[in-house]
Amino acid sequence: MVSNAVSLIFSEMEANNYSFNNLHKHVVIQINDTHPTLVIPELISRLLLKGLTIDKAIDIVSQTVAYTNHTILAEALEKWPLKYLEKVVPSLIDIIKYLDAKAKKVYPNPDLAIIDMDNIIHMAHLDIHYSFSVNGVAALHTEILKNSELHNFNKIYPTKFNNKTNGITFRRWLLHSNPELTRYLEGLISSKFKKDALALKQLANYSNDTRVLNALENIKQTKKQQFIDYARTHYNVELPLNSIFDVQIKRIHEYKRQQMNALYIIHKYLEIKSGIYPDRPISFIFGGKAAPAYKIAKHIIHLILCLQQLINNDKDVNKYIKILFVENYNVTVAEKLIPAADISEQISLASKEASGTGNMKFMLNGAITLGTMDGANVEIAELVGPKNIYIFGKDSNTIIELYQTNSYKSADYYNNDPVIKQTVDFIISRQIIALGNQQKLTELFNELVGKDLFMTLIDLNHYIKVKDQAFKDYENRLTWLNKSLVNIANAGYFSSDRTIAQYNKDIWKINL
Ligand SMILES: *Cc1c(COP(=O)(O)O)cnc(C)c1O
Repeated sequence: MVSNAVSLIFSEMEANNYSFNNLHKHVVIQINDTHPTLVIPELISRLLLKGLTIDKAIDIVSQTVAYTNHTILAEALEKWPLKYLEKVVPSLIDIIKYLDAKAKKVYPNPDLAIIDMDNIIHMAHLDIHYSFSVNGVAALHTEILKNSELHNFNKIYPTKFNNKTNGITFRRWLLHSNPELTRYLEGLISSKFKKDALALKQLANYSNDTRVLNALENIKQTKKQQFIDYARTHYNVELPLNSIFDVQIKRIHEYKRQQMNALYIIHKYLEIKSGIYPDRPISFIFGGKAAPAYKIAKHIIHLILCLQQLINNDKDVNKYIKILFVENYNVTVAEKLIPAADISEQISLASKEASGTGNMKFMLNGAITLGTMDGANVEIAELVGPKNIYIFGKDSNTIIELYQTNSYKSADYYNNDPVIKQTVDFIISRQIIALGNQQKLTELFNELVGKDLFMTLIDLNHYIKVKDQAFKDYENRLTWLNKSLVNIANAGYFSSDRTIAQYNKDIWKINL
């Protein structure tokens, strides 16, 4: 694929009679995550065929490519054994070895190596050495790259590093998915926001106008009713219209902590069983796919499905709470669910979510974020202010230090806190095991008590407390609708139009 991209670029260069010595003056290639990294040696190899020397080709390519990092999870940064690449791309091997040797000559530190001592190729290292720009996708993420994950690279290439906070397309996530809200906004503040997302700020003038707040509430009810009808026909689950829609939809991963949300639901279930009832019904909605071989992620889905069966079929409990795990979660389902959501669950372990974009889609549709200070949640919190977002949990500096000192022990939280012990034990209770698979549930239990790689238990109590407060605040309808309005009014920053304009101004420099 990268080879074909190079072919297209080269035919355009030739059609315009441009010299290949000037490739970087006509072309920028944005390497979007590590996947297209081989475009670097491929470009060099094709420039050699055009008669350039290897060092001239490397110099030009390094001024042509820019790299975007999308994750700080070390296990998600691609590494490939040299042995594999020798089979797949034999013609690029000498070039990759040359690039590695050239980098090692200037920077002998093994942490910076492209080919490591086990003959493994580190794609991100190849990208950083041989590109002119390295960017993260949210302000906090870029700072963590510079100060922790890629600190050694930032020391040698400080000017390469920059931030481009992600955005979302408002054409899809407002105009298409929420025509009711779009139409209402057009009537209230004109259609300017459709081309200039920052014009949504005009909505803030109406933050205490009860007519506007009630109109927003009516739109939310309409979108909830539409999803209720969809859920009835597609999943055979009946969600009450007067319930709070608490939504966590995203890939299933331990760092995103769907398991913490499940533990909250267990806590609520046990409260209801003991006679403590929520002010109004709550609908807990999940959606997401797990990677096929990611065992614990599959077990988390299994637990949520067991809870769905237990709770939705229990007449004493299903008056107060319902669970829906949406199967085959995808963009089409997201477009239906996000406009219907009241609460946006963004509860990753601080420092682990590079940006998130689901968080932005929910904000734009008037849901209130319940989240950690992670990824772009930090920027959402700055934009809406502390009264209009629910923040909980340990911050990224604390978490990074806990990893560095290896000092988090989940068993301590399990053994020393009766609330935590009670909710975690419920995973392997007789009732749950009767509905599910004992081995899967036991493996999940053991993972949480014995390892808990993403520190679910460290934030569980604070999560319960802040989430309960959000549900309580929901009852103060005008105050809640005011929060919702402030979120919509400040969402303009997260338009992908802004993101693309920043890439162009700082990196691509295309004259439009
Ligand atoms: C936006 C989106 C995502 C990303 O969600 P996050 O909460 O940022 O992880 C994943 N899947 C689908 C279908 C989406 O629309």
